Amino acid sequence: MTIIPDLSELVIEQVSMTNVVTIMVRAASPTAPCPCCGTICKRIQSRYTRTVRDLPASGRPVHLMLHVRRFFCQESTCVRKIFAERFPSLTLPRVKFTLRLQDALTEMGFELGGEASARLGKKLSYPGSPDTILRLVKGAELPVASSPRVVGLDDWSWKRRLRYGTLICDLESRNPLDVLPDRSVETVSAWFQKHPSVEVVSRDRSSEYAAAIKKGAPQAIEVADRWHLGKNLAESIETLLARCRSEIRHTLQGQSRPVQEQAEMEPMLEEEKHPARSRREEQARLARRAQKLDQYEQVLELRDQELTTTDIGSRIGVSGRTVQRWLAHGSFPEARRRRRRPSLIDPYERYVLQWWHEGNRNGLQLYRELIAQGYKGSSKAMYRYLVRLRTPQRPSLGVTPSKPQMQKNVLTSPAPLENFSAQRATWLFVCQPDELDRTQQNELALIRQVSPSAETAYRLAQGFMQMIREHTGEQLDTWLSSAEASQVPELKSFAKGVQQDKAAVFAGLTLPWSQGLLEGHVNRLKLLKRSMYGRAKLPLLRARVLHVAEKEPARAAILAG
Ligand SMILES: [Zn+2]
Repeated sequence: MTIIPDLSELVIEQVSMTNVVTIMVRAASPTAPCPCCGTICKRIQSRYTRTVRDLPASGRPVHLMLHVRRFFCQESTCVRKIFAERFPSLTLPRVKFTLRLQDALTEMGFELGGEASARLGKKLSYPGSPDTILRLVKGAELPVASSPRVVGLDDWSWKRRLRYGTLICDLESRNPLDVLPDRSVETVSAWFQKHPSVEVVSRDRSSEYAAAIKKGAPQAIEVADRWHLGKNLAESIETLLARCRSEIRHTLQGQSRPVQEQAEMEPMLEEEKHPARSRREEQARLARRAQKLDQYEQVLELRDQELTTTDIGSRIGVSGRTVQRWLAHGSFPEARRRRRRPSLIDPYERYVLQWWHEGNRNGLQLYRELIAQGYKGSSKAMYRYLVRLRTPQRPSLGVTPSKPQMQKNVLTSPAPLENFSAQRATWLFVCQPDELDRTQQNELALIRQVSPSAETAYRLAQGFMQMIREHTGEQLDTWLSSAEASQVPELKSFAKGVQQDKAAVFAGLTLPWSQGLLEGHVNRLKLLKRSMYGRAKLPLLRARVLHVAEKEPARAAILAG
């Protein structure tokens, strides 16, 4: 075992072993080069001892006691008159760790983050506080992105639904290239401007990424990722099926039933950054509500047949506890409106309100005042907040359905599709038919039979999934005409979204690139972020994401699935 790294330049004078291994070391050479001018000097001014921690030996901490000499620099023109000798093979100037200990701590930091490394280090006699380890990780050199040709973009959330970052991967080498602090047009386009080699960019359906690519990499072909296309389609189908649950169920029971009140389905939009996305979200929310309302009506029907809550639950496909809660509630339990997203402006709300009520309207002035008070958000976010003050609050949805009329001719045995769930049924719609078992096939056939909308949706969904699976993008135009001609609002709005992004979707349905591997990297990134608790500042996160990828491409690929 080598006690110290390079013995040719050093002399071990003494080793003592107690709980700690202490090694006295001095330089072998009688002379030393001046760090400023390089002149070899031999006149000694004084001596002192410097302690440096090294890798533990047999589980014991190792302290190197370096005998350091101070030399006079003999070069008359040199700015240094006196210098302390250095031990370049062993450690850096003014550092308390040896180089190899620093390397070990850096590796631990990349794998585990600061806190866990320090905890583990303590057990294994490695020194180093969480802060020290994090500093080493941040200071480590990162691989420089070569000239990527095909890249994929995906976002990941710093804070759920509040702040998003961007992960960029090389789809050819399958490695992460960079982690950006947000997904804004400025940040993402700036990255592309620094990487002019990019020829193909795969992305999700976000309009921000589309704009960033057009701005930063106008030479590149945009590819709408197939996985995201399939996901968007499935979401549309699920919304449709949730909306039609009641219709499907009542048709099966041979009851006539008024179509859901149109007014109820009219989307009431909340102010949003992405109008298109938010309309879709609102449509989905209302559909989920319709599905739940229908389940609630079923609960009442079955209760009148004096079924137990457990039986009701198992027949409808909700838990017995949910049934109990709904019945105890006495009326349809409206989902509580989700709270407004927390915003960086929240702590200044009172100040802003007061400012507003005093009749002030100069936004720029307010923005400066907020900044002076430590506000870290954007001026855009502040203006969005002000817009809310200007427009009177919208009335809440406030639809309280009247208690459904009880029907006397109640059912006694389970009806088909009684436990219909839009989420489950969506799978039947997008999956390849031969992957379904007998029961699933029957369920699907029944749904298609009773609901004309579902039948239309099924044909369109299968048509689109076929393009995704077989890369037959040349059929896109025909598909779009059929979807637009259909009377299914959810698919019409899906088609509209595709139409607006048609070139990229066509490329996605034609070219071989797919960013499925990005999902794996995003998941790993989330894992790293979580392991760092609140310390996940971007430079560190970026360092850890890129580091592992560089050292272990094979493992990164496996993680990416
Ligand atoms: Zn000198």
